[in-house]
Amino acid sequence: MPVKVTSTIPDVTGPKPPLLIRGGYLLTMDPGTGDIPGGDVLVSDGAIAAVGTGLSAPAGAAVLDAGGMIVAPGLVDTHWHLWNTLLRSMSERGPGYFRLVRALGPAFGPGDIYTGTLLACAEALSSGITTVHDWCHNVRGPAHAEAGLRALTQAGLRARFSYGYPAACPNDQAMDLAGLRRLHADLAGHAPPGLVGLGMAWRGAGGSDPAMRVPAAIYRRELDTARELGLPVTVHACGPRAAAGQIAALADAGLLGPDLQVVHANWATAAEIGQLAAAGSAVSVSPYSELLVGYGLPRTGELLAAGVPVGLSVDTTVLTGNADMFAVMKVTQGLANAVAEDEFALTARRTLALATIDGARSLGLGAVTGSLTAGKRADLILVSAAGANLGMVTDPAHMLVTAAQPANVDTVIADGRIVKRHGALTALDAEGIGRDARQALDGVLARSRG
Ligand SMILES: [Zn+2]
Repeated sequence: MPVKVTSTIPDVTGPKPPLLIRGGYLLTMDPGTGDIPGGDVLVSDGAIAAVGTGLSAPAGAAVLDAGGMIVAPGLVDTHWHLWNTLLRSMSERGPGYFRLVRALGPAFGPGDIYTGTLLACAEALSSGITTVHDWCHNVRGPAHAEAGLRALTQAGLRARFSYGYPAACPNDQAMDLAGLRRLHADLAGHAPPGLVGLGMAWRGAGGSDPAMRVPAAIYRRELDTARELGLPVTVHACGPRAAAGQIAALADAGLLGPDLQVVHANWATAAEIGQLAAAGSAVSVSPYSELLVGYGLPRTGELLAAGVPVGLSVDTTVLTGNADMFAVMKVTQGLANAVAEDEFALTARRTLALATIDGARSLGLGAVTGSLTAGKRADLILVSAAGANLGMVTDPAHMLVTAAQPANVDTVIADGRIVKRHGALTALDAEGIGRDARQALDGVLARSRG
């Protein structure tokens, strides 16, 4: 039975009135501008028109008082399986994340992909995340991919939808490449250009475990298709130790490159980190899922020292429970300092950069988002210092990384549109989405029991 959608869907195609954000502490994350205490941001036609002090509001502009608030770029997630948000905090039932996804993934219809993805988008926007990289590894047919894209589009956030294979896909079966070609040709019919892009979520060679190995003829054909279409590609290089050598295998085959993002890389050797840097491949680090699934410690400090572009990620709320990017930043900094045995190995400001401008650059979106810079799209957050867990503004970057929580996010603007105001979602109906999600999960569980 298809999922009945009861939540109200916003219109993201309407005009975007100008906005003036006035008098906040601006963490622009633009190295040429730096911080601006008591600063203003002018937003026009969905873009940042000016950043400075004493800006005047054009006629018809809504003025948002940012007094007592930290104004920062919207946070950037670089790898997240949004579809399986329906299975939040269920990994121990599997038993384990991978078994759970293999068991329940095949029971997902397009409506379940839609509902799970929309729930994830609602959480993202509420938490201050305005860009997501949707790593969709449950494309069971064209309708599944279109459902994921529809949810991202309706949520109005910035996204890359990386088209993948179906959950529990046999190793000797390629993903639906004809479907990918059709979607690529018709993308404008499914997603607003400039806001939601397309990529490929690739299995790669499947690691060194023989049970997971994908024949070369298949993984080569998949990668060749993505590159022929000019699509960015993303691949997991997971631990634990059994999967070591995945990155070297990609490098030795000449398959790394600036268009290929590697996820996790916890077990990369020093030589492999050098190969990633030389090839310009970015790495997405998802510290909470890596800790909870037992992959070991992130290699953030070593990756950065080698010059590898790094972004932070949620990965999956099946393991992590929530998509709190403030917590992701805090644990990223803590682990990097712990591994280095140095309080100053990774500063809060650099950690915040990983969740904003560096994350955007690692996705190839550095000219579009990730900093408060005139000409970029207007993705930004206003964090109120009024909560009991904040109280005052001391070191703003340090506060966002170690003290702030999603509940402190007062206002979120995505592509120039207000999607959260005074602490509540304005564009998405969180209650209705939750109702749909519970119904969808019931259906998935019933069908999986057969
Ligand atoms: Zn993942």
